[in-house]
Amino acid sequence: HLTNAALLARRQAAVVRGVGHAHTIFAERASNAEVWDVEGRRFIDFAGGIAVLNTGHCHPKVIAAVKAQMDKFTHTCFQVLAYEPYVELAERLNALAPGQFAKKTLFLTTGAEAVENAIKIARSHTGRPGVIAFGGGYHGRTMMTLGLTGKVAPYKLGFGPFPADVFHATWPMPSRGISVDDAIASIEAIFRNDIEASRVAAIIAEPVQGEGGFHVAPPEFFPRLRALCDQHGILLIADEVQTGAGRTGTWFASEQMGAAPDMITSAKSLAGGFPISAVTGRAEVMDAPAPGGLGGTYAGSPLGCAAALAVLEVFEEEQLLARARHLGEKMMTSLRILARRHRSMAEVRGLGAMVAIEFGRDGELAQPDAELAKKVVAAAAERGLILLTCGTWGNVVRILVPLTASDAVIDEGLAILASVLDHVGA
Ligand code: PMP
Repeated sequence: HLTNAALLARRQAAVVRGVGHAHTIFAERASNAEVWDVEGRRFIDFAGGIAVLNTGHCHPKVIAAVKAQMDKFTHTCFQVLAYEPYVELAERLNALAPGQFAKKTLFLTTGAEAVENAIKIARSHTGRPGVIAFGGGYHGRTMMTLGLTGKVAPYKLGFGPFPADVFHATWPMPSRGISVDDAIASIEAIFRNDIEASRVAAIIAEPVQGEGGFHVAPPEFFPRLRALCDQHGILLIADEVQTGAGRTGTWFASEQMGAAPDMITSAKSLAGGFPISAVTGRAEVMDAPAPGGLGGTYAGSPLGCAAALAVLEVFEEEQLLARARHLGEKMMTSLRILARRHRSMAEVRGLGAMVAIEFGRDGELAQPDAELAKKVVAAAAERGLILLTCGTWGNVVRILVPLTASDAVIDEGLAILASVLDHVGA
């Protein structure tokens, strides 16, 4: 019978090493917040396929919606023969996005593609080339999105040159002594040193830096970005590929940021495990590119649209936004209690159910402990809990558990985490 070890050997022989692996476990089946591997072992899934499973693995409503769509047709290409689910999903996202202005939506397939297209639209609308992103930000693995991503290793190593006219500002992290004033000053410095503000098309920011370590934008940051953008005719893009689709307790985290962006990218949990991504934004901005300028063969696939419409229904029926807020408080409270006993837990932070622990030697953020974070993830997997790291220094353990997980499963996962912290001497 199949074993993880045998499959790993086959994987190493057949698959490029450039695709990393957080775990050496091969999945056999999954349901809600649980996964079983090929050896029959059960795991609690606190990773959610990197923020894709807010509605859990194989939610019956999502699976049923996709099956129903499959029985009708699976592909026409929206540019060739259109279909209602695409239009309906666009209507739904337009209504959900913050901002008192008319909105339109474009669908693609991956998060990186959504970001690529947001930049294309921003350039098309403004007629300007420049884009400002943030150190520690993550936007994808295509050439433009790698250019925007603010972390060299491992993402950018050896892959340049990246598109020109992309600049990185400083992300505010008050607990590390980097204020919102410092972050805004770093943008002003870009205007002075690198590119004049009148040639900047867009500033792109994650409401909570995801891969960068779950750094939540301070409350005044998006309003300050909004004001700066308005002053210079720059568009504000919120990359909500990780924060969107209800993870933070509102459908878009932007709803909590105190300022409406001109465009929002979303993907991941939008379709509960099926590939689709979106750019939702100000109608006159979104309509800048001429007909034929946007699209893609699989962009906005009928299966993805059907799945996403079912996800929206599940969010309403199961009140998952309230559930995200509840789970976030529950996890944050337990982790903060654990942090009193474990000095290496330098900070517990998050927004809604996007929660993370940062490890530092002697409890110091200035002494990131990636080794310990790695040990915690490995020891947790041995005890049946799937976790992921993140962070510029790789020293953050993040939780992206399905919002549909039962209290019993969440408690079981948190108890495993607590025993792991004792075991590794955190
Ligand atoms: N933007 C953000 C904020 C992300 O977290 C990610 C994926 N981690 C992406 C873009 C890229 O998404 P994808 O991997 O679907 O291309």
